[in-house]
Amino acid sequence: MKRMPTQGLPATDVLTALESLRANDVDWRNGRAFSLAYHAGPEAIALAEEAYRRFSGENALSTDAFPSLKTMQADVVSMTRDWLGATADSAGFMTSGGTESILMIVKAARDQFRHSRNITKPNVVLPTSAHAAFEKACAYFDVEPRRSPVGTNWRAHADGMRELIDENTILLVASAPQYPQGVIDDVPSIANLALEHGINCHVDACMGGVTLAYLARLGEPIPPWNLAVDGVTSMSVDLHKFGYTSKGASVVMYANKMLRSFQGFVTDNWLGGFYASSGALGTKSGGSIASAWSVMHHLGDDGYLDLTRRARRATVALADHIDQHDDLALRVRPDATLLSFGARDSSSLNIFAVADQLRTRGWYVDRQQPPDSLHCTVNAIHHDKINLFVADLDEAVALTKSNQRQGSVGQYGNLE
Ligand SMILES: *Cc1c(COP(=O)(O)O)cnc(C)c1O
Repeated sequence: MKRMPTQGLPATDVLTALESLRANDVDWRNGRAFSLAYHAGPEAIALAEEAYRRFSGENALSTDAFPSLKTMQADVVSMTRDWLGATADSAGFMTSGGTESILMIVKAARDQFRHSRNITKPNVVLPTSAHAAFEKACAYFDVEPRRSPVGTNWRAHADGMRELIDENTILLVASAPQYPQGVIDDVPSIANLALEHGINCHVDACMGGVTLAYLARLGEPIPPWNLAVDGVTSMSVDLHKFGYTSKGASVVMYANKMLRSFQGFVTDNWLGGFYASSGALGTKSGGSIASAWSVMHHLGDDGYLDLTRRARRATVALADHIDQHDDLALRVRPDATLLSFGARDSSSLNIFAVADQLRTRGWYVDRQQPPDSLHCTVNAIHHDKINLFVADLDEAVALTKSNQRQGSVGQYGNLE
């Protein structure tokens, strides 16, 4: 078992040891990860890291002490407004990530409807494709999740959700795009259903919040998906994904300040005086805030447009290859920059064994089910990597088929 060294080590030795721990990590800086990490180029990474370093010790728990962080957070939230179709009434907060954004949405809806309708046993109606973070939120805040089936091509539609709604339903969820298959749900029908019942509708755009606006500008047929749709009451967008900033940055945006007011927490019921926080965290590093502020200013609208173009081209190239493959089945044509595929015939090809083969060749892809599938989140770094990847993918498929290997499902997150 590891023990603290009795005498401290020189910083250079510590850094050497730290680097050696990386030996088996996926090489995301060279585009080997189709999940978990995003890369807009060496300059953007260097800026993200430098800004993080400069503000890593600052604490956004008190913006009285650090007004710089108040300004930066307000700027960051404001710079997402056009992406999200926000109006003059919309109001948001920065959070530490998609999970915190979603936790806060569920908590805010719970408190709002306890207050306005005295709902004490609330439920949320959400498609089977909505992110696992909603299950976490429901478990944390004692809200019942009611999962509705997705419609054709994995897209959720109000029709699947309507019958699950009752007088205790507080929130409907749509995703743009949903994570597992990368398609955009029918947001207008779901938001309209929420309006009919006078309840909230959250659009989880943790993935698409940055890219969809640019994809539309690039001529892709993007259906309505944001706060411009009547009935949408909140959105989430992760800056540490396609915003290409350091980890620990997301924005949750509400249609108005009344809705947002249920997110915060205040107390004076302890010996430490008045305490207030906007989200789940107490101490909140200035690093991720400064990093997001800096990267967004550095990349700008034209930068994000170009990065989105590259990510989309790579996605389409990969989707085309899989679509034409004799042994692989693309689940559905991707709407944005995420896709999923499995074996055409799962009795002759174990798709998780293909993932094992890819891992030995240095590639990391997600494994998911049901149905047994691999998942790729394609970002700008992949624009010149797809040829390399599909060559290895083809080899991995051929090898797996010939030796009938079995693989294991693995997991998207874990407990250690
Ligand atoms: C990533 C993701 C989340 C969760 O966000 P984290 O940043 O991992 O906490 C939620 N919803 C969707 C659609 C996502 O892609």
